[in-house]
Amino acid sequence: MPNASLVIANWKMNGNKALAKEMVTSLRDNHEQFQAVNVVVCPPFTLISDLTRECYYDDIAVGAQTVSEHESGAYTGEVSTSQLKEAGVSYVLVGHSERRQLFAESDEQINQKVKATLSANLKAVLCVGENKSQRDAGETWDVVSQQVKNALQGIAPESTGKIIVAYEPVWAIGTGETATPEQAQEVHEKLRALVVELFGEIGNKLPLLYGGSVKPGNAKELFSQKDIDGGLIGGASLKTDDFLSICQAAQ
Ligand code: PEP
Repeated sequence: MPNASLVIANWKMNGNKALAKEMVTSLRDNHEQFQAVNVVVCPPFTLISDLTRECYYDDIAVGAQTVSEHESGAYTGEVSTSQLKEAGVSYVLVGHSERRQLFAESDEQINQKVKATLSANLKAVLCVGENKSQRDAGETWDVVSQQVKNALQGIAPESTGKIIVAYEPVWAIGTGETATPEQAQEVHEKLRALVVELFGEIGNKLPLLYGGSVKPGNAKELFSQKDIDGGLIGGASLKTDDFLSICQAAQ
């Protein structure tokens, strides 16, 4: 039985006004099929207001794909937590592997972004995951656990309710190659123990998402794993029917 509670769409640098409208319409019209699931859509910055205003539907939360660690000032191209809040955002992806790889985000910067996000009372979706060579070298858990510890350093247990951790093996992102449910669960079980170690019993309630080529055909099995509480969905979140099926698979 799936036991997922949260499904997040990451549109990356894709989508347009038409997709925002189509997605919201489809999720609203079919909402009774996944009533127990919290759905979040993270569009590019320019489409946030489409989802929070023009085609607003209050059962879909809106997230940003990244945020600045700074509050304001001379940071051309950046967007702050308060600006996101004002735009109606309630979730922020932090440390996505594409941000780490393509924009050289360091663990220290990711830690600052998590802190900025939590201080603004927004939910932080911390993304972690090993690459192919790290997995092949048997370093998966070393890499993932270090990323989590570094990103959550100095975070008080009181903030646990605003943190989500997404395990996204880099080799499975956008590649069509998915971690098997067993591979994903193996890491999630360790993640569960780690967040309990870091935050105490309340860590048992922290949502742990899997991301990496989740599709309608594999979502149910992944979401049925004991420690997988939902998914972070890239490519399949750009197709309304596929994303809808994934939301239904979580119910
Ligand atoms: C992602 O970018 O977070 C992701 C999981 O992408 P995909 O589903 O396309 O692998």
